[in-house]
Amino acid sequence: MKKILENTIILESLTSLFSQAPVGLAILMGENLVIENANQQVLDFWQKGNEIIGLPLLEALPEIATQEFPTILNEVFETGVAFKGSKVKALLEKDGVLGARYFDFIYAPVYSGDKIIGVSIVATEVTDQVLGEKKLHESELRFKELMEISDYSVAIFKGEDLYIEFANDQMIKSWGKTRAVVGQKLEEAIPELEGQPFFQILRNIFQTGEPYIATEDKVDLVVDGILQQFYYSISYRPLRNADGEIYAILNMGLNVTELVESRQKAQNAVKEYRDLAESMPQIVWTTDKEGVFVNFNENMLKFLNIEKDEMPNFDFSKILSPEDFVQLKRVWAKAEEEKSKFELELRFLDINIGEYIWFLNKATPVFDEDRTIKKWIGTSTNINDFKILAAQKDTFLGIASHELKTPLTSLKLYAQVLERMLRKTGDEKNAEFAKKMDVQIIKLTSLIGDLLDVTKINSGKIYLNEIQFDFEKLVIDTVEEQQLSTDFKIEIHTEQGGMVFADRDRVSQVITNFISNAIKYSPNTEHVIVRVESVENDVQFSVQDFGIGIPEDKKDKVFEQYYRVSGDEQTTFPGLGLGLFISAQIVERSKGKIWVNSILGKGSSFCFSLPVVE
Ligand code: ADP
Repeated sequence: MKKILENTIILESLTSLFSQAPVGLAILMGENLVIENANQQVLDFWQKGNEIIGLPLLEALPEIATQEFPTILNEVFETGVAFKGSKVKALLEKDGVLGARYFDFIYAPVYSGDKIIGVSIVATEVTDQVLGEKKLHESELRFKELMEISDYSVAIFKGEDLYIEFANDQMIKSWGKTRAVVGQKLEEAIPELEGQPFFQILRNIFQTGEPYIATEDKVDLVVDGILQQFYYSISYRPLRNADGEIYAILNMGLNVTELVESRQKAQNAVKEYRDLAESMPQIVWTTDKEGVFVNFNENMLKFLNIEKDEMPNFDFSKILSPEDFVQLKRVWAKAEEEKSKFELELRFLDINIGEYIWFLNKATPVFDEDRTIKKWIGTSTNINDFKILAAQKDTFLGIASHELKTPLTSLKLYAQVLERMLRKTGDEKNAEFAKKMDVQIIKLTSLIGDLLDVTKINSGKIYLNEIQFDFEKLVIDTVEEQQLSTDFKIEIHTEQGGMVFADRDRVSQVITNFISNAIKYSPNTEHVIVRVESVENDVQFSVQDFGIGIPEDKKDKVFEQYYRVSGDEQTTFPGLGLGLFISAQIVERSKGKIWVNSILGKGSSFCFSLPVVE
């Protein structure tokens, strides 16, 4: 009785265990796999109620007829070999719809003595786990795909031995290696990294957990068989598992070699220009468009005797001679308006010695794309010694020409007396010699006159004896006189020009200079044309020749002191390069304008104009 009681108790607890177990349990009996028993879990898996107990499996679950389970169950029933399924997909009905669910299960034979009488089922649902794994796998795949198309070089190094677990194509290419390196230790795959800091940095991350980020690391890599230097923007970040332990390092890199090299090149170029500027004997500078100094070399600071940070507040008007300051403002404003370079001699006070020093200042505008001036670049050259020498030379020339003039005047007088006396005695031959002597003395006097004029101009001592006179008449008189001493035909076209207020002799000197130049620089022609025209409130004089002409870029220079276009043709066209300089000074001081139009090889028209007075 006690035994029966014990058995009953065991059976009851087994039945309770069966129904409450957290796994699905079922027993199928006989060939037809009649559902002998199924706990709630299994019924839930199958989405059925108790009514299916006692039905053959396929009758209870017709939806599994086409799936693999009946076959497996039959096999277990026939062979007695248990079957273990892991993460097996089952299509089961839920709310009238077939859906995929995943199970781990064991089908085991049920024996009665030696005979198989049924099959037991133990099953757990693993759908969530499988779907989770699937998602993880998919996201890993997506990550890798993304990494493959990334512009960044990406790799994952696993464990402290730094096994290359993953490397995208970009990374393999940057290493100059093939896919074969994936799976290898980093040290073996890229031996040239030995001696560079990266292994140490990577291993440190395993210890410290601190990521490493560098914008511009130098890396030596063997690419195309050659050890080359690259620059990479690098990040190494620790990857942690669910327990927070670092299991790998994610490496991302961007090749910035070109960027770094072009920046280095630009820096070198800047340095080179700075060195160049510093090695120059001149003061070199740039200003912004307003004329505020931005860059300058040491020479500037030395001259001003100031430190670099004092430069922005330095008041140049204090050291520039007042009249030069006015002139600088005028010339600079004009250059700004005309968007052109300028050149100007200015006196700056040398604070170190308390004296004004002459500087030749040259400035060139630099333009934006839309041709507005964005800055000025310039140099200032100390020409003080040159100025002193030039002044000494002028003094010497002044004295010498003055001293030469007196004996020449007597000589001219004697030559004229001699000529007259010889003619009187009928000695025509020697009288001609005396006349030639006189012509040469005239030439010499004119040369000395020019030298004297220049020294007067340079020292500001040229005085104009201004009177009112008829301009057209002066031209006619001067031309008539000049026609006497030349074989050239001086054609003359004049119109009533009006009265001008100027130094008559000096203006005549300009007209003579223009005509004699026109004749001198026209070797193969025989005529020049002189014109007097009335233009607005001015009277305009011009001499047109058909001679050698002047190159376009030299046209404005011919009015400078000692300037000669045909410098190397001194024997063909002798001269001092002073006539036009003197002419320009005379015209400008008489409030007139002077200019030249010329075509090289075709001829020139030298012109000046003077204001007409009422
Ligand atoms: P010089 O004739 O004594 O050299 P100028 O001052 O009169 O000096 O002229 C300066 C330069 O201008 C000359 O050397 C010459 O090269 C050029 N020049 C002047 N007039 C003419 C001209 N009519 N045709 C061509 N070149 C000229």
